[in-house]
Amino acid sequence: MQLSPEIRLKAILDGTGAGTWEWNLDTNDVIFNERWAEMLGYTLDELAPVTFGTWEQLCHPADLELAWKALQKYLDGKGPQFECVIRMRHKDGQWRYIHTRGMLLNGTEGEHPRWLMGTHLDVTEEKVTEHRLSQLAESLPGIIYTFVMEPDGRCYFTYMSRKVEDFFGLTPEEACSDAELLFQHIHSDDLQAVRDSIADSFRSLEQWECDYRVINNGLTGWLRGVAEPEREPDGKVVWQGMVIDIDDEKRLELELETLSVTDELTGLFNRRYFIRKLEETAVQQDRYGGEFSLIAVDLDHFKEINDAYGHPVGDVVLKRFGELIQHRVRKSDVVARTGGEEFLILMPQTSLENAAQVAEDLRHAIETESFVSDERQAFRVTLSAGVVSCREQAVTVRELLSICDRSLYRAKRHGRNRIMVQ
Ligand code: GH3
Ligand code: MG
Ligand code: MG
Repeated sequence: MQLSPEIRLKAILDGTGAGTWEWNLDTNDVIFNERWAEMLGYTLDELAPVTFGTWEQLCHPADLELAWKALQKYLDGKGPQFECVIRMRHKDGQWRYIHTRGMLLNGTEGEHPRWLMGTHLDVTEEKVTEHRLSQLAESLPGIIYTFVMEPDGRCYFTYMSRKVEDFFGLTPEEACSDAELLFQHIHSDDLQAVRDSIADSFRSLEQWECDYRVINNGLTGWLRGVAEPEREPDGKVVWQGMVIDIDDEKRLELELETLSVTDELTGLFNRRYFIRKLEETAVQQDRYGGEFSLIAVDLDHFKEINDAYGHPVGDVVLKRFGELIQHRVRKSDVVARTGGEEFLILMPQTSLENAAQVAEDLRHAIETESFVSDERQAFRVTLSAGVVSCREQAVTVRELLSICDRSLYRAKRHGRNRIMVQ
């Protein structure tokens, strides 16, 4: 059965629930269908006589300008159709959001009469939901966003909640106009890790999660991003994600990490950290060769110092000795207080002779340092040390430590205040 174009058009419009309108730009004549009036709670008869002014009166005054601008844009040839969402008053007094679309019937300008024809769709439900969602997004403690990466690597944000202003100092519009504006705020030490993890998630489609620092107004803060990727049929990947502020959590974590590797009294590293670094150094040396050295130090007759001047004075000596070591080692060396008055120094890329020289300097430094008790009594402290170096991974870390200890105890046996080399 062949249906007439009119019947088919009516069936389509009924199916979409759209109202139709026609407007002669030259004469201002308008034609609306019944559905157009019904959408706003009227019959066409109730609105009669229907003129251009009928539409204007039903429009929200604040949205009229928006409609004119959208129309002008279309008439200027800057869009495939006239399109805007404006509020119109329902018979019950409520404002409904109406999605308005239209096109010039004749297409070409200059031809008369020029009819603009289009549809009205009530999108109030969608608008209300959208408004609710955006309110929800704004009330969240973090940013929510949509990020897209094309198969050729181009990437951009298609949605960004307002919170981006607090975290990155950018408006959502700026962030959506150019993703690089946002990436520029990421700390340079973390940027590559962020980019790499995005590329990984693009390939594997596994959840993206990354902690990174961001610099905003000269202040550095920690953020955590989590996003769920989804690949679209054309190959691009779209992430729906959230960014939260983890600055307090991260600071606490770093503080705990520092505490867990630090000796409280001297601020030097503790034994656990030292052993870890020693093992890492041994692995490196095994792989790349080279030489590293170890110094084990034990203060002489320290019990007597405590007994004579009190434990707090003993603590001052330990702290001062920690400083004396730190002034004599390189940044790459690792210094730890591994027991009461026992210290270990790990010196990567250092020969036995150079390590022995550092040990000797230290021995001399503590011997010539004058300490004073609470009763202003001056006293001196000496040390004994053992020095070893490791050139081939012939021994384990444990064996190396025990060789170093044996050298140290030889120094003790030979009268203290001396160093013994391997
Ligand atoms: P040696 O020359 O043989 O090493 O004799 P020493 O007295 O130094 O050795 P010993 O191991 O008998 O004594 C170590 C002393 O170090 C015992 C303890 O009172 C003291 N000590 C350990 N830890 C601390 C500390 O944290 N602060 C203070 N003030 N003293 C400590
Ligand atoms: Mg000791
Ligand atoms: Mg001792």
